[in-house]
Amino acid sequence: TDLAHIRNFSIVAHIDHGKSTLADRLIQTTDTVAARDMKEQLLDAMDIERERGITIKANTVRIDYTAENGEQYVLNLIDTPGHVDFAYEVSRSMRAVEGSLLVVDSTQGVEAQTLANVYQAIDADHDIVPVLNKIDLPASDCERVAEQIEDVIGIDASGAIRVSAKTGEGIRETLEAIVKHLPAPKGTRDAPLKAMLVDSWYDAYLGVIVLVRIMDGVLKKGERIKMMQTGSVHHVDRIGVFRPAMQAVDELGPGEIGFLTASIKQVRDTKVGDTITHEKKGAETPLPGFKPSVPVVFCGLFPVDSAEFEDLRDAIEKLALNDASFSYEMETSAALGFGFRCGFLGLLHLEVIRDRIEREYDIDLITTAPSVIYHIYGRDGEMVELHNPADMPDPSKIDHIEEPRIKATILVPDEFLGDVLKLCQDRRGIQLDLTYAGARAMVVYDLPLNEVVFDFYDRLKSVTKGYASFDYQLTGYREDNLVKMQVLVNDEPVDALSTMVHRDRAEMRGRAMCEKLKDLIPRHMFKIPIQAAIGGKVIARETLSALRKDVTAKCYGGDATRKRKLLDKQKAGKKKMRQFGKVDIPQEAFISALKMD
Ligand code: GDP
Ligand code: MG
Repeated sequence: TDLAHIRNFSIVAHIDHGKSTLADRLIQTTDTVAARDMKEQLLDAMDIERERGITIKANTVRIDYTAENGEQYVLNLIDTPGHVDFAYEVSRSMRAVEGSLLVVDSTQGVEAQTLANVYQAIDADHDIVPVLNKIDLPASDCERVAEQIEDVIGIDASGAIRVSAKTGEGIRETLEAIVKHLPAPKGTRDAPLKAMLVDSWYDAYLGVIVLVRIMDGVLKKGERIKMMQTGSVHHVDRIGVFRPAMQAVDELGPGEIGFLTASIKQVRDTKVGDTITHEKKGAETPLPGFKPSVPVVFCGLFPVDSAEFEDLRDAIEKLALNDASFSYEMETSAALGFGFRCGFLGLLHLEVIRDRIEREYDIDLITTAPSVIYHIYGRDGEMVELHNPADMPDPSKIDHIEEPRIKATILVPDEFLGDVLKLCQDRRGIQLDLTYAGARAMVVYDLPLNEVVFDFYDRLKSVTKGYASFDYQLTGYREDNLVKMQVLVNDEPVDALSTMVHRDRAEMRGRAMCEKLKDLIPRHMFKIPIQAAIGGKVIARETLSALRKDVTAKCYGGDATRKRKLLDKQKAGKKKMRQFGKVDIPQEAFISALKMD
């Protein structure tokens, strides 16, 4: 296809504003997929994505469209992940296309992820077509939302297309706008090959599938290619496009988006953002702006039943095949036995992986407190990265500790603003900005990532009844007064409950944790002290009193079925418990004890 007849675009939207539904409708209207193969939300492949309504991996589809001017166009849609954890993937996909449809739910208006995503599109120099979706709903208010787009984002929304992705109204106009208002790609056919590696994933039959955008040159089957960042060389055994099923093509030229396979075994060998060129007569310089995505949140994953360790290893290895941004290494804990220390791009990423292990591989997990990476500066001037509070060096050797900070943007209806400010303040936040976007306040806070990783998002949702939207980016490291807090149950330290806390908040956190644990740990035949301590010094304490003998006496005599039922219950309960010294601690204690409220 000649460049003038190609349009490459992505769709940017806040979650639930209708990105996937619109993509489906574009595919359907252009007969890209036979009607019988059309299912709802075609592009959200994985079950978990469907359930949570989020798109995790970027997907892509090539659409043929005959415009009103009678000309035939190729439209390439790249579907980007919608969540902050995958910001780097979003920014790369954006660089692979020239324009974006900005979808805003006309019953809701601009939200935090609308802003985050549209700014990515603006950074990537996109032309942007605003689309007001859900006009079939009575609450739709296009005028107000168009005005808001102009006020808050500062782009012209007078020509915004009014669409119902549900009924199909406005879909033709959207296709026409893509052709008319988005630019054609640029590129030179006889220049050395430069292709951007936009995404990659593992397929059991084909090995790693690499999604590429050709910037310059031509890629053909059978050629030898080189990844410019990693230096690895591969033989291309297949090239093609997604419609959205895979379809082989002879070549991919400038401006085109498609895939290649090259007997690559692991997604780890294909770095998102890398430049692909030919092994011989390749390009001299790679495309700008490559940076590998790195995990920022770490936690331990342990099987509840230690006999399932090998199954867990198997599950983690399989998941890692398809997710290069997830890291893992074996970990042993005195309390939890064998497990893995895993690194994630963010909290959602952590949750998705944990859920998949539990559901798809049917393994009950104990998740230890999520931790960020601290920079520990020794008295000798050396810096070490701390991924796990359990590895904290001797405090006498430490000069100072730095922690990662974020810039958080929160949009919230005015009535909840006070609660949001209080929440941010409680989490050691520093307010950077407070402005209004229509009836909603937009607050920007500088916060320690460690105060956000655990339950900040849940708390935010609960204090605002779900009306707040939230987005963040990492800004850098800063020194603060941080200490490791240990929890001792029956005088034994439970390493899985160790956390890094700010010194000023240690007593409060320690007290809250001990109180929670007191409720969560069942009573035993003996008294159990529960303590929080910083370096040997106890800062909070609770005591769980002993079980009185006559409670168990109930099990004797009495009705036999009732007795068996009680025993069954105990057994089921036991399965979810872990033994620490002489004490059984239920699985949910590890999560609940760390929540702050
Ligand atoms: P995404 O998170 O942006 O991909 O949003 P989805 O496409 O998954 O849509 C979120 C919800 O809004 C789903 O329940 C859709 O059925 C619904 N939805 C999407 N577009 C429309 C529309 O035009 N009208 C109505 N009434 N509902 C819509
Ligand atoms: Mg979606």
